[in-house]
Amino acid sequence: YDFKGKTAIVTGGGSGIGAAIVKKLAADGAKVIVADISMEHAEEIASEVGENAKAVKVDTGDAASVEAMVKAAEEFGGGLHLLVNNAGIGGANAPVGEYPVDSWKKVIDVNLHGVFYGMRYAIPAMQKAGGGSIVNIASILGSVGIAGSSAYVATKHALLGLTKSSALEYGDKGIRINAVGPGFIKTPLLDANLDQDTMDYLANQHAMKRLGTPEEVANLTCFLLSDDASFITGSYHLVDGGYTAQ
Ligand code: NAD
Repeated sequence: YDFKGKTAIVTGGGSGIGAAIVKKLAADGAKVIVADISMEHAEEIASEVGENAKAVKVDTGDAASVEAMVKAAEEFGGGLHLLVNNAGIGGANAPVGEYPVDSWKKVIDVNLHGVFYGMRYAIPAMQKAGGGSIVNIASILGSVGIAGSSAYVATKHALLGLTKSSALEYGDKGIRINAVGPGFIKTPLLDANLDQDTMDYLANQHAMKRLGTPEEVANLTCFLLSDDASFITGSYHLVDGGYTAQ
């Protein structure tokens, strides 16, 4: 894709899926803000990319921090055109009748409020820049449930409604907004939370009998961000190896 002259923000860009998106955007010519709560991870990825990337610390659960991230992008690139709301956390694993209230609130803050804040502050910047494109990273768990992760599943379902409504608001104003639904992807998020048996079980739930890779999610995300997707807005796109086909 040709992202020359475009500036992008990828939240959670310091690891996993976000890092793969950062690398592909930069390889295709964009200037990229690697925004992450872990400055160490963000700087690692930004320095791998070189001068077209800049690390910025953000907590997507904090509106002021997200607003500052958007300003930093405008300063770095001279305008903002692309946003990937990718930062997300899994939260506690427990049935809803026992779910820790503090974990519930934290997951909603980062995964849902964080995506709203991203669009809230990036959209005015994109309007100033003459238009843009946004991808919200949801999940297969935006359309099906899973036991033990009610907070996560609730946020990912909510992202689809947020994506559709905002796409309707900006469809004729030069800003396209879509959601991506990855299946289980081999990233530090999974490595940190699941043992090998669980990972093998999950791999088997996909028609392709394997986990996905961050690069496979980056390919779809960058297509949706690019002008090749010029008539695509308000929709939810799976990259799930057939997980939700049954
Ligand atoms: P990851 O844990 O490898 O990376 C997430 C990054 O987000 C980390 O660098 C982390 O520091 C950062 N982050 C966490 N909280 C943050 C906050 N409050 N503000 C800013 N940054 C924050 O995770 P991943 O697997 O690459 O997941 C990325 C996105 O993809 C998430 O939204 C996740 O829900 C979604 N997703 C992942 C999978 C999967 O199987 N890995 C599947 C479907 C959807």
